[in-house]
Amino acid sequence: MSLLSVENALQIFKDNVKPTTAIKRVPASDSLGYVLAEDVCSTLNVPPEDCSAMDGYALCTDDLIDGQKTTLKISQRVMAGHEAQSFERGTAVRIFTGGQIPVGTNAVVMQEDCEVDGDSVVLPASINPGNNVRPQGQDIKVDDVVLVKGQKLFPQHIGQLASVGIAEVAIYRPLRVAALSTGDELVDPGSPLANGQIYNSNRFIMAGMIERLGFEFIDGGIVPDDFDITKDKLSEAAQNADVVITSGGVSVGDADYVKPAVDELGHLDLWSLAMKPGKPVAFGHINDTPFFGLPGNPVSVFVGFLVLIKPYLQATQGMPWKEPRRWKLPINFERKRSGIRQEYIRVSLVQGDDGEQRLESFSTQDSGVLRSTVYSDALAIVPPNTTVKQGDLLDCILLDELLNN
Ligand code: AMP
Ligand code: MG
Repeated sequence: MSLLSVENALQIFKDNVKPTTAIKRVPASDSLGYVLAEDVCSTLNVPPEDCSAMDGYALCTDDLIDGQKTTLKISQRVMAGHEAQSFERGTAVRIFTGGQIPVGTNAVVMQEDCEVDGDSVVLPASINPGNNVRPQGQDIKVDDVVLVKGQKLFPQHIGQLASVGIAEVAIYRPLRVAALSTGDELVDPGSPLANGQIYNSNRFIMAGMIERLGFEFIDGGIVPDDFDITKDKLSEAAQNADVVITSGGVSVGDADYVKPAVDELGHLDLWSLAMKPGKPVAFGHINDTPFFGLPGNPVSVFVGFLVLIKPYLQATQGMPWKEPRRWKLPINFERKRSGIRQEYIRVSLVQGDDGEQRLESFSTQDSGVLRSTVYSDALAIVPPNTTVKQGDLLDCILLDELLNN
């Protein structure tokens, strides 16, 4: 059977993005982690006027003696937040960081370079116009676009909004993402395990990803391997959520009911992806609700969610389409036999004796071993049909980045 490449699968997802339109206005102070739904322009200059970047003395460079130290009388003090008096030519102004530069002065000398002599100050030679002056609008100018629509709001963005006096912003209502875990063998922690049962880890991986990325998690629970129940649960989830995700039951085994259930409710494409872990992946729609089916192995859920579903969800949430950033680093392992699937190897960043970072493969790469995600820092990507040896450079994606932006 021919395999669909990760690249082609992502292109299909990208082509299917229908960005959300549901918007609400919230206080900017409550907007952390949400996605901005409008461009924000400034009505102000930041800083509002020329101001000092240092504690020191403001002066007019035309009052200085060329190439020599100059002594000037100190005529006033300007503290941040207080208006400057009119400037008397031929004097210096004691000024503090953030203080308004009096009209007529054009430079500030830091106090460490000056000597105070009674009510005068001795200034060093060679002071240039503009020295230590933060010009009006250095950060933001009137009418500048401060932030663009689609920006996810981190602390620095909210700080920038505050700097131009914005107290309220329009954000996209967080997507509601339902996650269902299929499998007769599953039990949620808190109940004892009977023979043959295992605890449901995928629910917690999916819920955590959904919440971590700022979406609303809708718990679709555990779905037994039964066609009618699978259909009912999927139908219910699709009514309550903007996107539905399942784990397990998308292979072509006897107990895999996700494909036939979605086929009856809407439309589903099931592919063998050229991806390891995470071969069987499904995508389709239940009524109009987009649907993703991930395989059941927990590492496949972890990798599949971050690599395949996260870009789709974020674009649907109104952010620009963005695939994970790749870093090139030398590896400490080898792959002597090439595979036809693109492999995402769980690796740690280890600093060698030479101070350089290297990628070290976790000992077990079985997609059932969730520990490989717990003790790793990154996913190293071995492209299809490629062998690699120690010291080769491989692209990797950092888990910190995957889960934090
Ligand atoms: P499936 O894709 O349904 O054939 O499942 C593949 C493997 O993943 C099987 O060993 C399942 O028991 C396991 N598995 C499926 N769902 C979960 C889950 N929610 N938590 C932990 N393991 C799971
Ligand atoms: Mg199953």
